[in-house]
Amino acid sequence: MEMASGDSTNQTHLGKRPAISTNYSNSSFLCSVVAIDHTNLSYRVCSQCEKSLPQTNNSSFCKYCNFNNKDNTSFTASKRLFKVLVSIATDTKVFVVVMFDRAAKVLFGCSADEFFDFEKTHPFAAVTAGNVLEGEMLKVSLSNPKNGNAQHLRVASVAPLRSGFQPVIETLRQLYRVRDSS
Ligand SMILES: [Zn+2]
Repeated sequence: MEMASGDSTNQTHLGKRPAISTNYSNSSFLCSVVAIDHTNLSYRVCSQCEKSLPQTNNSSFCKYCNFNNKDNTSFTASKRLFKVLVSIATDTKVFVVVMFDRAAKVLFGCSADEFFDFEKTHPFAAVTAGNVLEGEMLKVSLSNPKNGNAQHLRVASVAPLRSGFQPVIETLRQLYRVRDSS
């Protein structure tokens, strides 16, 4: 009895290959930011149900809310949520993960709407944000994508390791203040 269970445990251990991607999806690990896709940091959603709205026009009419509530024919308001593609490096490889709103807010220190508004007056804010984050050491945990078609593991939690870390938006405000006054 004991032998048998011991054997099977050993076997599964021995048979286990170092499957890196599945390891990453279970526990937290250290990595550094290689780059972020600064061309597309957020997307528009319905402010009520948070389903994605058409990104091509400015209509905030949500067909999902309208389906659910036939009396509600009014246009609902929209808001933005972060969706940031981040290339990260571990000690063994470099790969791309996707950071949704809750995780991205930890690094950016503001809502996606606030950042979007900041970009209107500071057109290079997104590029600079990428430069600011580059090389930042992070402790992250990943989870499998909810959508089966999604290509990238998603960041479930993120914690900057550097003691002097400050959110991107604060760094940007300082940078631009310095430039403005010079
Ligand atoms: Zn909606």
